[in-house]
Amino acid sequence: MEQLGYSEEEARVFMSYFENGNIVLSENELHKEGFRDVLAHERLHKEIDNLPTKQRVVLNEARDFILKDFKEKELRWSQEIDFLFNLLQKGEINEDEYNQRSKDAIMKANPILLDFENETAGLIFILRNQEEFYPYLMMNKLQPSVLEYIRLHFPQSFQIFENLKKEIYQQIQEKEKN
Ligand SMILES: [Zn+2]
Repeated sequence: MEQLGYSEEEARVFMSYFENGNIVLSENELHKEGFRDVLAHERLHKEIDNLPTKQRVVLNEARDFILKDFKEKELRWSQEIDFLFNLLQKGEINEDEYNQRSKDAIMKANPILLDFENETAGLIFILRNQEEFYPYLMMNKLQPSVLEYIRLHFPQSFQIFENLKKEIYQQIQEKEKN
């Protein structure tokens, strides 16, 4: 949320909207800056729920592949990090070495979802609730290369996602004009 220019307080308010799932916004609130994104986020959940089953399956193929990739690789590097932590505790390596080697282990595994050089605030949320994958992707809370990966490797999923996104922002724009 901070990335989108919201204060921490605003972010908290918005997050409570997300967590309650069903949000009811008045026309007034609709015109307040920021709520457009909340609205778009909620709409995307609904639009995905309303997709014909076939399309939803295709859309989720990309998500499921990427999450599975992350979890598999996480298992590998977390074992490496446990090993390094053990060395650190025994005083066989120092903290700098521990940090560097932990980072190397993750970079070597190179999951699609995680890039150490970029902020990946959405990661924690989507790993707990996979339904948040596309809404977070839409709000640019995952690193840009995730969308690029989907475009290249799951072109059908990409197309469905892009169509939903376009439709949602068009709907919101229409509504704002009235
Ligand atoms: Zn959500």
